[in-house]
Amino acid sequence: MDATAPVISQTTGSPRTTVTAIPGDGIGPEVMRAVQRVLAAAGARITWEEAEAGAAVFKRGIASGCPQDTLDSIAQTGIVLKGPLETPVGYGEKSANVTLRKFFELYGNIRPVRELPGIRTPFSGRGIDLVIVRENVEDLYTGIEHMQSAGAAQCLKLITEPGCERIIRLAFALTQAESRRKLACATKANIMKMTEGMMKRVFERVAPEYPGIEASHIIIDNCAHQLVIAPEQFDVIVTTNMNGDIISDLAAGLVGGLGVAPSSNIGDNAAMFEAVHGSAPQIAGRDLANPTALMLSAVMMLRHIGDFAAAEMVEQALLVTLEEGRNLTGDIAPKGTGVGTTAYTDQVIANLGRTSGHPSRQYQPLNLPVWPKGVWHHDSDSRIMMGLDVFIESDHAPERLAASLQAATEGTDFTLKMIENRGVQVWPAHTGEPFLVDLFRCRFLLGTPSEGAPDEIAHLMKRLTAEHHWMHVEKLQRFDGLDGFTRAQGEN
Ligand code: NAD
Repeated sequence: MDATAPVISQTTGSPRTTVTAIPGDGIGPEVMRAVQRVLAAAGARITWEEAEAGAAVFKRGIASGCPQDTLDSIAQTGIVLKGPLETPVGYGEKSANVTLRKFFELYGNIRPVRELPGIRTPFSGRGIDLVIVRENVEDLYTGIEHMQSAGAAQCLKLITEPGCERIIRLAFALTQAESRRKLACATKANIMKMTEGMMKRVFERVAPEYPGIEASHIIIDNCAHQLVIAPEQFDVIVTTNMNGDIISDLAAGLVGGLGVAPSSNIGDNAAMFEAVHGSAPQIAGRDLANPTALMLSAVMMLRHIGDFAAAEMVEQALLVTLEEGRNLTGDIAPKGTGVGTTAYTDQVIANLGRTSGHPSRQYQPLNLPVWPKGVWHHDSDSRIMMGLDVFIESDHAPERLAASLQAATEGTDFTLKMIENRGVQVWPAHTGEPFLVDLFRCRFLLGTPSEGAPDEIAHLMKRLTAEHHWMHVEKLQRFDGLDGFTRAQGEN
């Protein structure tokens, strides 16, 4: 088909799907308009319900950046195509993106990373074609932070067993749905044995249920290294939130950067599709933006709603356009040949119905388990209270602090086991010359470990409160015979 031929409109015969469209900020409305034109021309049976979020909403004083109408629309449709949303830079206001992910519990962030024809990078020709599946709601992103002293900040890294299991099962299901063979779980389990280790343990428990998939574990830093050294070795990677945030941007950089990187955010009741890039305010409103990333996100959306024919048609038209290299936007065109968003979109529309030299995969619907409602609870057969870690703000030297803490334990069943500073034991013994800050973790052990010990705890804490600034207390518990706490460097 040549560029002047009429647009083919293919109807799939399937019922229309209502999709919430959030054009967003900056270049968002331009790239959204481009995508809607392409999808209409491809005959995708979509009814758009336009909704607002982002800068204009913040300016109206809505602190979440998402008005109730938008949340209602998503709750109704369950499918969102979203442009970029500006995050206000300042204190207190949340990101509207994070609000949407958390509100609809969009726990799975899927980021395909595929070498695209005509987009030259130092990695071109390597055949990169992988998917990163990032846990999207837990980890350091729960946003639970506390100043422990005026100069020591803490962020809670919260990882749960069902949180791991959901994302791991999503990753296996995606590997199957895209007819891929290998799934690597990338963690920092060697250092964070409980949190990152949870992801690894759940992965190893679930993997035997998918015998057709080659499952392996890789330490995240080696994964980053391998992604640069030999990215073509990877098929699907599943990882925790913070790791995934970093390696998915790294991987996007291997194949042409944020302008061409799509993504989806999957939950039990809603799914949101968006480009990885931001609102690019410098080029907004000038018909300069590249809509490829949002178009590829829309392709993911079409597959998610089961419109495989329209997805294939749009993806192939995009690939033909990139392959031929005519009428590309300035960011990816050879120098001096760039055209605007509208002309590029016209070119993609003109190429609908053509097949590129890059065949698509065989996609099938994602087969995901439905998670039961209600509070998830892992019941242990036994739970023994071993002691307490009390985090104390102090400018005393460790020996002086220890003497005061030992005095506080007199007449209680607790003994002071050790004091550490930023993870390194500094009392009763220490090695080297640790740099000390005004936050000490003080470990008290019960003489008689038991199931409860509330009176003993109250007794000790009352004494500590009289003499010290303590910030928080962690119970040291043993679940089913296994310690539910780690030891400090140097602690035995
Ligand atoms: P950005 O992605 O907007 O821009 C980075 C660079 O890439 C700029 O040079 C920009 O011009 C270019 N660029 C980005 N998308 C492009 C496209 N489609 N076509 C051509 N060039 C493109 O990143 P930023 O400047 O860090 O962020 C700007 C705003 O976007 C911030 O308010 C940020 O919070 C927000 N943001 C939103 C999302 C989201 O909604 N998911 C993601 C990232 C950033």
